[in-house]
Amino acid sequence: MGKSVDVVQSELVRALAGLMDLEAEYAALADPTNVALDDEHDSEGSTVGFERARVAGLLERSRRHIAELEAAAQRVAEGSYGYCTSCGKAIGSDRLIALPATRLCIECAS
Ligand SMILES: [Zn+2]
Repeated sequence: MGKSVDVVQSELVRALAGLMDLEAEYAALADPTNVALDDEHDSEGSTVGFERARVAGLLERSRRHIAELEAAAQRVAEGSYGYCTSCGKAIGSDRLIALPATRLCIECAS
């Protein structure tokens, strides 16, 4: 199970870095003193609003993914990681590497 545990940790680090990038991007879009955005806004009215909605959607997805990875890390700490929370069977290592945060085996997920 060591390899899968490493995947959870590295995926969590990667997801947190991605979240920081998104938060910086969102802050830049929300900044009324950002002159570049003002120019863009003047020439093409809906662009900034559209971009903000897009980044907000990505932020939400990123935060949800991080919450799932943190729950997976918690299961690692408890020793229950890698077992389906529905039927209790071991989840295949291929599935865990592809989806480190998953809590269901392939049968229960489908
Ligand atoms: Zn299952």
